[in-house]
Amino acid sequence: MKIAYQIVYLKKRFPLRISRGLRDGQHNLFISITDGAYVGWGETSPGESEGASTAQEAQSQLEHFLDQYTVDVEAIYKTYDSALKNGVSPCALAALDMALWDLKAKKANMPLYRLLGFKEPTKPTSITLGIMTPEEAKERLPLILEQEGIRTLKVKLGNPEGIEADKTMYNEVLEYHKGYPISIRVDANGGWNVDDAKHMMAWLSERHCEYVEQPLKEGEETYLPELYKNRPLPIFVDESCRFATDIPKWAEAVDGVNMKLMKCGGITGALRIIATAHAFGLKTMIGCMGETSISIAAGAAVSGALDHIDLDSHLNLNPDPCKGAPLVNEITMPLEVPGHGGQFKSHS
Ligand SMILES: [Mg+2]
Repeated sequence: MKIAYQIVYLKKRFPLRISRGLRDGQHNLFISITDGAYVGWGETSPGESEGASTAQEAQSQLEHFLDQYTVDVEAIYKTYDSALKNGVSPCALAALDMALWDLKAKKANMPLYRLLGFKEPTKPTSITLGIMTPEEAKERLPLILEQEGIRTLKVKLGNPEGIEADKTMYNEVLEYHKGYPISIRVDANGGWNVDDAKHMMAWLSERHCEYVEQPLKEGEETYLPELYKNRPLPIFVDESCRFATDIPKWAEAVDGVNMKLMKCGGITGALRIIATAHAFGLKTMIGCMGETSISIAAGAAVSGALDHIDLDSHLNLNPDPCKGAPLVNEITMPLEVPGHGGQFKSHS
């Protein structure tokens, strides 16, 4: 098998601000794996908390691992476990893992989502609204609601300026709720303390919010049971749940988990999270980092099994150099082609 690497700069249409900082673009790593007949595509959106802070670092981790290990599409779970054991970070592994699954499905002449036994997704994707001023929200919301026709919003709160800033921003979104039948969920990205979280969840529960994601900072999970008791809204964890093995730790104190391919190391990690979350009766969702259509298409391949979908980062690229999972009636839809369907536009 031949593996090739490519690092590409991706510019965002609108910079994204969350509780931890602002991003207007980034370099992602792309890999292709070929057996001579078919090509599998993969992508890393690097991140310090996902184990590689740059695309170069992710590439060196993969090169080092693949110097001593021969990959095989018939043994993807084994490759996944060996890579993690040998120091490959989850975000670097995500590229290798999704490329192997892509190749496996292409060899089987099946769309990846069908090969995995999943249905077509039926849930609309949310579009993420980063932390912004009410003026910025006034500029963004009409574009999302009118031009893109999206009706599900994920609103980032946990503003470092405090919960009054969160309320001002959320109230701006609510203005649009009067004119459009929008669904709203909130992601605090760990930006609240326990008291803020209790107060905000009660406040949001009276204002059309469906659930909150990561109310408390990663590392403060011991406060989750207190927050979970008498909660007015469902609680999902994101940063607090990286792998399936994290789920039993918090299963009694959350309603659901948010998986991301970059956090769990790709499709293999996602399959394990889905199985474990279901074993504990938890809801599931999938989110994304700054990813193109390649990684989004890989995520879409498992999304038919999930309760909530947030596969939207490619829509905020200018331009997205890749294609893969088009928006069909608000759903990030896997293509009916062999593999996960993601590839560079220039390769077709
Ligand atoms: Mg999140």
